[in-house]
Amino acid sequence: MASYAGSGVAPGIVKGPAYLYAKVSFSVEKKTIQDRDVKVELEKFERAVQRSERDLKKIIALTRDKVGSESAVIFEAQLLMLRDDALYDTVVEAISSNHVVAEYAVSSVMSKHRQMMEGSDSEYLRERANDLLDVQERLVRHLRRGHILSDIPTQTVVIAENLTAADIILFSRKGILGCATDFGGATSHVSIMARSLGVPAVVGMHDITEHVETGQTVIVDGAKGEVIVAPTEAEEQAYAAKRTRFERLLVEDRALVPLPSQTLDGHQINLEANIELREELPLLSEYGADGIGLFRTEMLLLMESRLLVSEEEQYELYRDVVKAAAPGYTTFRMLDLGGDKMLPMGHREQNPFLGWRGIRVLLDKPDILVPQLRAILRAARHGPTRLLLPMVTSRDEIRVFRQQLVKVHAELEAEGIPCTSDIPLGIMIEVPAAALQADSLAREVDFFSIGTNDLTQYVLAVDRGNDLVAGLFDELHPAVLRLIRHTVRAAHRQDIPVGLCGELATNLQAVPVLVGLGVTSLSASPVYLPSMKRIIRSMNMEEGEEVAERALRSEDVRDTHAFLAAWLSEHGCGLDY
Ligand code: PEP
Ligand code: MG
Repeated sequence: MASYAGSGVAPGIVKGPAYLYAKVSFSVEKKTIQDRDVKVELEKFERAVQRSERDLKKIIALTRDKVGSESAVIFEAQLLMLRDDALYDTVVEAISSNHVVAEYAVSSVMSKHRQMMEGSDSEYLRERANDLLDVQERLVRHLRRGHILSDIPTQTVVIAENLTAADIILFSRKGILGCATDFGGATSHVSIMARSLGVPAVVGMHDITEHVETGQTVIVDGAKGEVIVAPTEAEEQAYAAKRTRFERLLVEDRALVPLPSQTLDGHQINLEANIELREELPLLSEYGADGIGLFRTEMLLLMESRLLVSEEEQYELYRDVVKAAAPGYTTFRMLDLGGDKMLPMGHREQNPFLGWRGIRVLLDKPDILVPQLRAILRAARHGPTRLLLPMVTSRDEIRVFRQQLVKVHAELEAEGIPCTSDIPLGIMIEVPAAALQADSLAREVDFFSIGTNDLTQYVLAVDRGNDLVAGLFDELHPAVLRLIRHTVRAAHRQDIPVGLCGELATNLQAVPVLVGLGVTSLSASPVYLPSMKRIIRSMNMEEGEEVAERALRSEDVRDTHAFLAAWLSEHGCGLDY
């Protein structure tokens, strides 16, 4: 056996046969087919062409709109290539006459064509060779998507180089047991999604795909961040015992659900849920959430793999969410597109996390903003609702958004559509600029929600999804804590509520620190709420202030972890199982 470590991002211990997703998906194998399968393969190819056309049309519209028509020319050329006779017909011919699968036909035909272009005297043709590669990759991706999904066996542990949030949604529908990946960080969206879906996961393992073969037994501990390959019998037994202890701990924590979330000296700390999917709504009462502190609306688009979801579809979802959370409130975060949540429309940026993201997209794209806002204002009639803006860096963004809010509300009223205007407006504090200007921003809004996932990556200059620097991503770093303190103080001065909805809230070591810093609500994946409550109920405010002070003054974040681990054990909240 061998054991490998990574970041445990979605709790749970599972054992099962491995399914190596990366290896099968990155090489195009020459597979032959029977005569009778030719038609199916041709249909697959046509479907992939149509999907690629759809992508490219979206990209073209977006590029024209954002960057200008000249830049859209590249994608227009790619669109034409898809149906170019010399390529399309040759692929069809390869499938029909050579009896090879569509994926291989596309790759071999296009690679040959590309080589010809690369060797050409014409500079124009040489440049176009890269575009052809893009087209080829797009087609293969579409061909593979259907293929891989239908191939993923249920009850397996998926081992992959990398997965997207959309992949994990599809895989979980296939009933996988868990997953482990080479890339990824604890706060990347694939990890957040794994947690929402209850799929135990370990990410950032660097090279787990090198050590596992399909079919080998693996054990994944999604809390500790451990993967054991080909366990011995003794290890299997040890793990089964561990799993029993883990499950017992969960049951014990669940007993806390009906109890108030209060410190020993009576300070109420609201425990709210981060929700991504409709399927998670029953968890609100199961884990005793006081409401939804963060509803990541962009996940609906990711699920549907499309850029726009109609106002009506959004309304129906939001209405159900508001009803499920009532009498607690629902905090709808306006679409936070961009970063690692770019949609499959493929708009490329060098630094997406520093690019067209969150509020920047919303204010540029009324066709995205307006239907969403209308849907939320309509849904808000059904229960307490709040609105949250992502990636805010300046006061003007809030003001421009407010103008839109007023306008959209007036339009709904004029149309006689029932809606509510009485919605508190808040912002994510997740960019250092916003944290540092918290005093001024607090005058513009009704509440703050601190997003430590992004705040940490921007303050420490550590990409939240990059396994190579995952060791440097530490939300308890004093620089991050100082910005949190600054934000909380500004909110208190302005008398507005301040919560925290980043993954830091699920880090049990952080709970006493955050309470001590004066954060009054914590929002996290519902499964974590009972163990967070256990800590809150075991401490008083003075202790919280002490640990917060110590963490803020710490010169080495390793010391912080050490003293917080000891503190948790002393309070009977250790993580041992
Ligand atoms: C955050 O950045 O902390 C956050 C909660 O938002 P997201 O993870 O969706 O970027
Ligand atoms: Mg964020």
